[in-house]
Amino acid sequence: MTPAPYVSYLSSMAILPIVQLPDAVLRQFSTPVQQVDAAILKLADNMLETMYAAPGVGLAAIQVGVPKRLIVLDTAGDNEPKKPLVVINPEIVRLGPELRSYEEGCLSIPDVRVEIERPSTVIIRYVDREGRQQQLDADGLLATAIQHEVDHLDGKLIVDFLTRLKRDIVIRKLKKISRG
Ligand SMILES: [Zn+2]
Repeated sequence: MTPAPYVSYLSSMAILPIVQLPDAVLRQFSTPVQQVDAAILKLADNMLETMYAAPGVGLAAIQVGVPKRLIVLDTAGDNEPKKPLVVINPEIVRLGPELRSYEEGCLSIPDVRVEIERPSTVIIRYVDREGRQQQLDADGLLATAIQHEVDHLDGKLIVDFLTRLKRDIVIRKLKKISRG
């Protein structure tokens, strides 16, 4: 998701190329992370660096071409300290009854924003970077961002919330851009 200000995180990290629509990789189903090892942690750190540089507030591993159930998020405001969150194997435990409408962007779909109504609160279970089971109650932008990123793990994109007609217009535009 977008946007957030860029703040340098750690200089040892790498910025990864972000896969963009219409690349079919984005439609893949991501499989669970079996073990939180050094390679996964390095991937998570590089994803955070890539997200901050973009800038964005969330990024799923499939967006850098890795079909694993791993997402990174940071919905801290401009004047707040960074709050990087690494979420492995997220499972939605409960969606709240109320809806929140937000104009969402996606780092894989440049220059497109889609007004989407989603539950305004969500409870997830996930594994943290130390390999521990965690539960998180999220609301506001974080709740929206979590649902957006979990959709990525199932190959779902914000354009899927559009009518077929509008979706075709967006995809045609992106194909034109990728051809230059
Ligand atoms: Zn996205």
